[in-house]
Amino acid sequence: MLLPIRKMADAARRARYLEALGINVWVPRHPPVETVVAPVDPATLDWPALRACVSDCMRCASHQGRTQTVFGVGDTAARWMVVGEAPGADEDRQGEPFVGAAGQLLNAMLAAIELPRETVYITNILKCRPPDNRDPRPEEVSACLPYLHRQVALLRPQIILAFGRVAAQSLLGTDSTLGKLRRSVHHFGALNTPVVVTYHPAYLLRSPGEKRKAWEDLKFARRVFAELPPAV
Ligand code: SF4
Repeated sequence: MLLPIRKMADAARRARYLEALGINVWVPRHPPVETVVAPVDPATLDWPALRACVSDCMRCASHQGRTQTVFGVGDTAARWMVVGEAPGADEDRQGEPFVGAAGQLLNAMLAAIELPRETVYITNILKCRPPDNRDPRPEEVSACLPYLHRQVALLRPQIILAFGRVAAQSLLGTDSTLGKLRRSVHHFGALNTPVVVTYHPAYLLRSPGEKRKAWEDLKFARRVFAELPPAV
């Protein structure tokens, strides 16, 4: 260890002598070497790696206010996938989508079509709670959608149930109203997965008069599922 220190001291002393003699000393500048971290492509990740990638994600502004990311929950061999908008306050705290009062209503809605919560896979378009619980912005949806695409590719659900306007519009890349999107079969992603849309349980808690329409949507989804060709 002594030799490099002595060499540095000698070099400094020599520089001072030369400076005193009016000789400019050329000092090579070594710019700091930047570590370039290649962005991770979610399309290459398995479930654990995808979850880890999401938990570290700072791709959009929503990471700033989160307590934790909310990746998704449920059976990774499920045939039904449930997609909502984004975590709310309860979800942000608990790290699980659709908890609290809206979650209980979701469970009841699923049970009504004989789908216990633990038999489906549940996630959101955004994995972080947007600040102040505002609607997700288009750039946040674009930033987060690759994770959902990968979840769909890994899960290969036979059908997706989209709950709420934001989930439906984000999945389908449209600004059509929920009213126009209901009662039709849409498709999502590379696997062309069938998508049926209905109201978000949080909206139904505020507008209980719409529950009957949601029930019609769920029965429609059940019929669509029953008529799908057998999974290969
Ligand atoms: S919302 Fe999605 S894209 Fe934005 S920081 Fe969270 S995980 Fe990343």
